[in-house]
Amino acid sequence: MATRGRTEVAARAAALSPAQAAAGYRTETFRELNRPLVQLLGGENVKALASLGLATVADLMEDLPRRYLSGTQTTDLSEVRPGDGVAVVARVLGVPQERGFDPKRMRLEAVLTDGRTQLPVTFFGQDRLIVYWKQQLQAGVKGIFVGKIGVFRDQLQMSHPDFVMLDEFGSIVGRATKTKVAMAEQVTRSGLVGIYPASKKLPTWQVADLASRVLDLLAGLDDPLPDDVRARHHLMGLLEAYTEIHRPQSLERIEQAERRLKFDEALRLQLTMAYRRADQAHRRAPSIAPRPDGLLARFDARLPFTLTDGQREVGAEIAADMSQTAPMQRLLQGEVGSGKTVVALRAMLAAVDAGHQGVLLAPTEVLATQHYAAITELLGNLAGAGTLGSAPGATEVVLLTGSATAIRRRNTLNKIASNQAGLVIGTHALLQAGVTFADLGLVVVDEQHRFGVEQRAALSEGASGPAGTYPHVLVMTATPIPRSVAMTIFGDLEVSTLTELPAGRQDVQTTVVYVPQHPAWLDRAWQRVREEVAAGRQGFIVVPRITASEADDFIPEGAVRPSATVEELSAALRDGPLAGLRLEVLHGRMSAEAKRDVMGRFAAGELDVLVATTVVEVGVDVPNASIMVVMDADRFGISQLHQLRGRIGRGEHPGVCLLVTYVDPTTPAAARLAAVARTRDGFELAEADLEQRREGNVLGANQSGARSTLRLLRAISDADLIAEAREAANDLVAADPDRSNPYLADMVTQVEAQSNDEWLDRT
Ligand code: ADP
Ligand code: MG
Repeated sequence: MATRGRTEVAARAAALSPAQAAAGYRTETFRELNRPLVQLLGGENVKALASLGLATVADLMEDLPRRYLSGTQTTDLSEVRPGDGVAVVARVLGVPQERGFDPKRMRLEAVLTDGRTQLPVTFFGQDRLIVYWKQQLQAGVKGIFVGKIGVFRDQLQMSHPDFVMLDEFGSIVGRATKTKVAMAEQVTRSGLVGIYPASKKLPTWQVADLASRVLDLLAGLDDPLPDDVRARHHLMGLLEAYTEIHRPQSLERIEQAERRLKFDEALRLQLTMAYRRADQAHRRAPSIAPRPDGLLARFDARLPFTLTDGQREVGAEIAADMSQTAPMQRLLQGEVGSGKTVVALRAMLAAVDAGHQGVLLAPTEVLATQHYAAITELLGNLAGAGTLGSAPGATEVVLLTGSATAIRRRNTLNKIASNQAGLVIGTHALLQAGVTFADLGLVVVDEQHRFGVEQRAALSEGASGPAGTYPHVLVMTATPIPRSVAMTIFGDLEVSTLTELPAGRQDVQTTVVYVPQHPAWLDRAWQRVREEVAAGRQGFIVVPRITASEADDFIPEGAVRPSATVEELSAALRDGPLAGLRLEVLHGRMSAEAKRDVMGRFAAGELDVLVATTVVEVGVDVPNASIMVVMDADRFGISQLHQLRGRIGRGEHPGVCLLVTYVDPTTPAAARLAAVARTRDGFELAEADLEQRREGNVLGANQSGARSTLRLLRAISDADLIAEAREAANDLVAADPDRSNPYLADMVTQVEAQSNDEWLDRT
């Protein structure tokens, strides 16, 4: 989620050496833009910017103000409207009046005037603050006031504006702090004032000031876009755009500036994909033909269920792709529980039948381990190559994760390198140096949304096949992506969709538990858990945080308390409402071994209840689990809740999902919960989600805490711009297939550098 993304970026910024950050760029422009701010600004400022997620020159230049205030000395107070944010230069009319009796909660009322119109302003605070303010707001003195216009008793007023007082020469009265100076400069400079996302340490005035200082250093920056592209797409120059954003002149020009920056972002992405497509077209992959007596045919014959029509159709699409000599690039999207793993396994078996290897990459160790268990189980003696009782022609399945011991790892690597293991399952540990495949034919990436968008190239490149061939690639996601978005973002993939769920999937009843309004419902929730356990079922309790010292990732508007933690809640439940149940915790800070142990015992039915973080979000498959309680559900996004809920109702028992929240039912956060409770249709939820978030987040980079892929763009509302950028990218790549234009090469490098950073985060 967004906030964690920011701290990770910040941590990375601190770790990045200047040489690393600028390495690999061929043009001065991109070297400048990728310079770490630490080379340009003082340490305190750099630290404060880093905590806002801004580490490089480009980060700061593309940090758009959230809004722009109009007004300055020219403000006509008769023109302000309720809801307007304004920055006005005005005089104090008469002596401000104190009101109130409680010294802790006093009010100071003053009146401002521009000479014609009057505007009341009100301040609230303790008496000593009131005294201080009153001293500042001398009758007749001019000041700058920044705030929002509200209405009180039918009259316009401004409450609690930021202000500085000026003398007749325009100098600040009183102590001229950095912030006050910056504020006075910005408000009196031009017609508009940008208000940035800011922090206590670094108020918007200082963000603006730093942006302006860095902007000065960029004088003479060459524009990376060729003139004809700029002309054709009516784009403002890059430096001009930065200038307009940070020293705004008019709303119309700001809009053009934002358009330019968004276009660049879209173009970088589309160029990367266009070059990838061009490279792909030249690449060869092993053509894989079905074998009537092969493992796949025998697997199908012994499958304990019949494939759904969707699984069959998608399977045929994949088989057709894999029979080609160009590598498959296919995205398989399907609801949670729609049976993607079997589809992937069948494709992998086809690869093994043709003498190649298939690899399945999972985003987490828990999930990889579970895939390994499920797949060896489904394969039975088809997987037991070399062991007693194995079927003739059987293959071997191996698991490789980061926590394997050195000896085990070496053993597994040998099997992978010698083609003894036909099927390889693992985490990204598989992509590290030292892993050599004998003959890789197919790469499957599960839960693509957890990997972020740009890593696909690394996945297929990191593991090439024999004799200069490239493997076929299938990526899978349970986060449904509206088609328009898939087109623009996964522009280089074909898309298959599994819409139906296998027969026998159970209903899940979802209820939002509003605790402050209905305190008894929470007790009832725990009682429901006990009832399910008494009936032989199991339950998940999902909690946003592990310990109280950890910050909340995301705090929605209207939140009234810090979120629950695994540590505190599990203790409280053990001693309270769930006393006597077999309850364990599961979270990301446990060792891999401990996680495996707990998951294993839960899957085996030796535990009743898991109190867990979102580590259970992906893929966990325990059909006997029938109830899920999500604590402080408002802290999670729609897609994430949908994923979580997919963990129950997977067996023969209907599920119960209780979304516990302390927010008010009228808040947007509650509206999200209501949407999740209303439907289990993933596409409908994805649309609802898109209305509220950036698609980068929906696609997921941010859901797993890494930086969002899309920074300024929104895939739906900017669809036209993205289409334009796509067209421009295709033209540029056609005209420069060898990447001799260094600016274009740098744009691609920029995208790749970002994806590499994300990889680093995960290792
Ligand atoms: P997901 O698409 O969420 O990854 P899985 O592949 O994990 O779903 O499948 C969920 C469960 O459904 C697994 O236990 C799997 O064996 C089972 N399953 C898959 N296909 C079918 C089918 N056609 N009929 C019945 N069960 C199926
Ligand atoms: Mg799955």
